[in-house]
Amino acid sequence: MAALSPDDLQAILTEIAASMAEAEDRGTVATYIPELADVDPARFAIAVALPDGTTLSAGDADVPFSIQSISKVFMLAIALGRLGDQLWARVGREPSGHAFNSILQLEHENGIPRNPFVNAGAIAVTDAVLAGHQPRDVLAELLHFVRLAAGDDAIHIDKAVAASEQATAHRNMALAEFMAAHGNLRHPAALVIGTYVHQCALEMTVTQLARAGRFLVGAPGCPKLVSTARIRRINALMLTCGHYDSSGDFAYRVGLPGKSGVGGGILVIAPGRASIAVWSPGLTAQGNSRLGTEAMEWLVRRTGWSVFG
Ligand code: GLU
Repeated sequence: MAALSPDDLQAILTEIAASMAEAEDRGTVATYIPELADVDPARFAIAVALPDGTTLSAGDADVPFSIQSISKVFMLAIALGRLGDQLWARVGREPSGHAFNSILQLEHENGIPRNPFVNAGAIAVTDAVLAGHQPRDVLAELLHFVRLAAGDDAIHIDKAVAASEQATAHRNMALAEFMAAHGNLRHPAALVIGTYVHQCALEMTVTQLARAGRFLVGAPGCPKLVSTARIRRINALMLTCGHYDSSGDFAYRVGLPGKSGVGGGILVIAPGRASIAVWSPGLTAQGNSRLGTEAMEWLVRRTGWSVFG
């Protein structure tokens, strides 16, 4: 496929947003974090950030949303920078085939979570980053990383969302305590979950998120925050584990590494080409954005950006 001009890309984004505005089956907004339950399911936004920093968007691209589990990508990059391959003694690298907050597999596998993108795995990653640091330092480092990646100091954590999740974090507390019982948690569960819910409460627009993902594109012009080998590996984990128990389905339909969040956002990397963020709050039963996935399928069909051609 011939290279697309920014105008071609803008036309595709506008076409996708117009079609998504008409969609009837929008999925169901997450309600288990009370603060997210009020988000308008009619919202839709998509943004593409190119290696040179050009960012194109359509829909509600100026409306911030809770990035939730997409934060796990940034925290993983920080953890790998801090610990390198030692991290893999505490968390696996295999798709889970189980729900994002499942405790079942943890029991079978002696407290070692399948991958860093299921909740248990992300909690272990946050625990690892906390070593020798206070929660506020870890959150400051996360904010610094994301702001640097996006080139945008306005990015912040929504404290109301964090408090709302913390008040109802029974399952995540259970996962943390279960890992503690197996010796795979170094800090008190409440401290780790307190940090984790704040990382998940990072708030961004699709424009900010697409820009923040450019460090994983691996093309000249992109912010160089991690090594090329690490970019390759984080993308591999996003492709195989980024959508919980529908990671295979996302890979099949879109063919690009992506990480979803229950706020309805998805960060998708087209290696060497672009970082893409999409947001539609309604979720599938597996907790991934229904229209966000459809929009990505559409974008890849029109751009030919799948890593599989
Ligand atoms: N903070 C959410 C939780 O732990 C993240 C889940 C998600 O975004 O998929 O339940």
